[in-house]
Amino acid sequence: MAKRALISVSDKTGVVDLAAGLRERGWELLSTGGTFQTLSAAGLRVTPVRDLTGFPEMMDGRVKTLHPAVHGGILARRGSAHMDELAAQNFGTIDLVCVNLYPFRETVARGAPDPDVIENIDIGGPAMIRSAAKNHESVLVLVDPADYALALQDELSPAERRRLAAKAYRHTSDYDAAITAYLEGTSDELPTRLPETLTLTLTKAAEVRYGENPHQPGAVYRWGEARGPVLGAQVVAGKPMSFNNYADADAAWALCQDLAAQAASDGTGDAVCVAVKHANPCGVAVAPSVQAAWEGARDADTLSVFGGVVAVSQPVDLAAAQAMRGTFLEVLIAPAVTPDALELFTHKKPDLRVLVAATAQGVSRLDVRPLTGGFAVQERDTRLWDDLCPEVVTRREPTEAQWADLRFAWAVVKHARSNAVVLARRGVTVGLGTGAVSRIWAAERAVANAGERARGAALASEAFFPFDDVVRLAADAGVKAILQPGGAKRDPEVIAACNELGLSMVFTGSRHFRH
Ligand code: 5GP
Repeated sequence: MAKRALISVSDKTGVVDLAAGLRERGWELLSTGGTFQTLSAAGLRVTPVRDLTGFPEMMDGRVKTLHPAVHGGILARRGSAHMDELAAQNFGTIDLVCVNLYPFRETVARGAPDPDVIENIDIGGPAMIRSAAKNHESVLVLVDPADYALALQDELSPAERRRLAAKAYRHTSDYDAAITAYLEGTSDELPTRLPETLTLTLTKAAEVRYGENPHQPGAVYRWGEARGPVLGAQVVAGKPMSFNNYADADAAWALCQDLAAQAASDGTGDAVCVAVKHANPCGVAVAPSVQAAWEGARDADTLSVFGGVVAVSQPVDLAAAQAMRGTFLEVLIAPAVTPDALELFTHKKPDLRVLVAATAQGVSRLDVRPLTGGFAVQERDTRLWDDLCPEVVTRREPTEAQWADLRFAWAVVKHARSNAVVLARRGVTVGLGTGAVSRIWAAERAVANAGERARGAALASEAFFPFDDVVRLAADAGVKAILQPGGAKRDPEVIAACNELGLSMVFTGSRHFRH
């Protein structure tokens, strides 16, 4: 009986030459839908797998080759009773399996949405590769076009077959590792390139009196049909928005939303308040009510909040409005404002711009930074804590309360300008060092800001520590737990310093530069 090869490949490189070579040598070819098309189009005689299994390919290709006619044909131990069992079912042997898998990594790398990535987890392909590699004494397994020429040689040595089998298991284990990393959020696939040309259609959305300074004309534009939460917001009270107000409100709202998502996933019902000055958070708090969150954010740094832009995650009620009354603020943005709170603002704080945020729609994933004569463009940094797999690298582990503070501080540091160090305790930022040109200065600023409040605090840094100096400074100030990406040359020294000083340290494996 003619030998049979099952060919099922996503990457069709070299497959026609392989199949033609096998046909010339008298092999019979079996293949799945797409591969069948490619081989038939090249004029080769091929049997579709469905003729073998008696079943159509099902469920968008999830089930194509998962059938005893395929796996029995591959796995039957030649020269044993297995062959009788095979014959009893009218199945024949499969003597060569050529498979490469759905392009899972490539799908992740192009930033495809989650359902597309999940659909690109190959099931039947790895099963066939593993079956063939297990039975490699009798079945040749090919996972790499570079090995196709080998298959056309007359006889392969047992050592050569074993090498191909090992390569096959390497292929499936690398594949599973990529899936694991994706699901754990630690995938290090780099995104694919952005397009060669981008057409940005900007439409004027609001007039402002001037740009960043009075001598600069300015305006605010929307990108295409996008309705951003701030750009599309309703200004329900106060003076017209300024250029800087827009920028700061956007920054405040983005951080507020990240923290609100964390609060929602905790199911605490807590409110978030973010105060921003000059694009950097200056006080952030999570608390059971908007009033308490505001008071936390305000008291985090009573000096800097003056003239701040504030975002809150829940409707502003009268109690919160009364608590805000004594502080000069530029902008307040919230999902809603109760009528009595609005009345208070209108009468007692007529200059305060009060915005009801819009539900974001059609917002581009791109993040654009102006350059003279162009733009630097990237995808927005949407990575959240839940996408990470934090790893404790010290002998000491953070306590439950410190874990909560580390997670909170991580969201804040993501939205601060680099270099940034955030000290947090019980859901409040007690010290912020942002936009510093060296990491130690950011840490010094945060520690000085915190003063006594640094005792027992958790510290987060948006990028790794090149030296152990931040650890020593933090320990001196009374910090107990540190979160940072890790990955520096001197990590061992940094970890040793934590162990020596009794601190816990957690690596996120992921950084949040924001220059
Ligand atoms: P084709 O382009 O020939 O339609 O599909 C080839 C791809 O299907 C290969 O990457 C192969 O690993 C994959 N494949 C083969 N059988 C199955 C199956 O039963 N389930 C899934 N999910 N993928 C399969």
